[in-house]
Amino acid sequence: MRYAILAEIYRKLDATQKRLEMIDILIELFDKTELENIRIVIYLTSGKIGADFEDLDIGIAEKMVIKAIAKAVGKSEEIVTALFAKKGDLGEVVEAFKAKSTQQGLEAFLTDGKTAAEESLTVREVWETLNKIANLEGKGSAAKKINTLVGLYAKATPLEAKYITRTVLSQLRLGVRDLTIIEALARKYCTEKDARKVIEHAYNVTSDIGFVGEILARKGLEAVRQIKIQVGRPIRMMAAQRLPSTEEILEKLGGKCALEFKYDGERVQAHKNGDKITLFSRNLNDISTMYPDVRDALKASITASKAIVEGEIVAWDPQAERLRPFQILMSRKRKYDISEMKEKIPVKVFLFDLLFVDGDNYLLKAYPQRRTKLEEIIKEEEIITLASQEIVTNASEFEAFFETAIESGCEGVMAKDIRETAIYQAGNRGFLWIKHKFDYSSAFADSYDFVVVGGFYGKGRRKGMLGTLLMAAYNPEKEIFETVCKLGSGFSDEDLAKITKELMALRTPEKPKEVASKLEADVWFYPTKVFEIRGADLSTSPVHTCALNEIKEDMGIAIRFPRFIRFREDKKPEFATTTKEIIDAYKEQRLLKKEKKN
Ligand code: ATP
Repeated sequence: MRYAILAEIYRKLDATQKRLEMIDILIELFDKTELENIRIVIYLTSGKIGADFEDLDIGIAEKMVIKAIAKAVGKSEEIVTALFAKKGDLGEVVEAFKAKSTQQGLEAFLTDGKTAAEESLTVREVWETLNKIANLEGKGSAAKKINTLVGLYAKATPLEAKYITRTVLSQLRLGVRDLTIIEALARKYCTEKDARKVIEHAYNVTSDIGFVGEILARKGLEAVRQIKIQVGRPIRMMAAQRLPSTEEILEKLGGKCALEFKYDGERVQAHKNGDKITLFSRNLNDISTMYPDVRDALKASITASKAIVEGEIVAWDPQAERLRPFQILMSRKRKYDISEMKEKIPVKVFLFDLLFVDGDNYLLKAYPQRRTKLEEIIKEEEIITLASQEIVTNASEFEAFFETAIESGCEGVMAKDIRETAIYQAGNRGFLWIKHKFDYSSAFADSYDFVVVGGFYGKGRRKGMLGTLLMAAYNPEKEIFETVCKLGSGFSDEDLAKITKELMALRTPEKPKEVASKLEADVWFYPTKVFEIRGADLSTSPVHTCALNEIKEDMGIAIRFPRFIRFREDKKPEFATTTKEIIDAYKEQRLLKKEKKN
């Protein structure tokens, strides 16, 4: 399959904002793709070269791409940089240069006796070359990466060069998310009514839509139904809903639930396969090398030979025998000096779930069964313990446990459904887990995780830096980000300098199509960074697009007086607070205000 076909599809995807059109274009793409290339095509179209958890970072920075373009088109780096400053997108820069030089170049190689078709790039060749670039490491690897990219540019048409550039910079940004791919796969390959659900389930269990897509295309839906949990492949994680009052939580959970400490650290999904332990983060990245202490401890502590368990890694103060806050744990996360940091910041792991053990899938078993089995296969020791848990049946028991959790240094509690239907909802945020945090006593003083989509330049002391950020909630039904507030306080000048530097690398020349905004920002960012913020309350707003028309015509919902709390490096934009959560919080607040009046 020629890469030109893929580039043409990308051009079409780039030109549309409509999800249904995107699905049609993806179906057209699958029509044109041979079976052996389905997997690669899915990865590439998602802007990646493999599944998320494979940790395949192409590792090319803008500066290196500028060097490669300069070399490939025979211009100086200054000239390339100048055009980049004008266009704001290196993909367009290389496209423009190539368009000018192609005629000449093509003539040169036709006289070599080869036809253009013989020389043109295939999808597999591009994918293999990008993998090669990703795997180059060590001394001299930067120069080798650049030269390999120059080699690709030499064979690429202008359009191909544009999309190769965006792919290597992780800026493909076609707006094609996994759910859109799932929908297109279901329509292309299946007639069964439950196809979408089956594909989604397989995706939740494998976290690899390329793998599921290939099985579907080659063997059909029945084979996808048979896809099993594999130790070493992360399962997409279950998430919690929120409710403001203990009474509502108890009622929702049938009057009785398991309450657990809500530890404030990093979620971990640990896979044990014999002697090998692999740790996955909430974002499904492999974080095994960052926590050698956790790996060693789990190896000894899990008595089964194969298992998948989940828990929270928390920083621990051994002198005071106390939990330490999330920020301390994050300061331990780095690629170097791991053994030094391991001594400086010891951790504990509090296990709270079991998904698989020795060949048995536990996802569809009720929570009490999962917990009992977890207790059975875990030998508690210094680092590894089970999450504190109590079964409660009324508000006063609930509140007493909640207080103990807060006193112990936790954020609050997790209330868990313990009925027969309380399965592990992989990849879903449902009411089987309900979180209740300290600040929930006032529903609207709650914190939210929003995505930065735009910025406004600062004035005075903040001149040259971003002064205010445009924040958005995620709408998973439409797969877009909807603005909800302008954030300008809560960060120090140092925070702001750091934010400016990091965000500027994500800027896009125009508003990304996944962003719905009525405001015109000074700079736009591709939705990537998640920040936790806290607001005073929620109000309807004519300028924000979150929940537009849901409460009032032409009005959205906004957070008033938002303050920055912390960076959420552990969260992908798709895990940000959703529009629906904002609507629920708004309604809740309205009810509370009414109650107060009465
Ligand atoms: P938050 O921002 O409130 O921490 P989140 O969006 O990161 O939440 P949620 O699913 O909403 O994720 O909240 C659940 C998170 O709480 C889990 O991802 C996990 O990291 C953490 N957690 C701590 N203790 C527990 C527990 N006992 N059971 C389940 N999750 C727990």
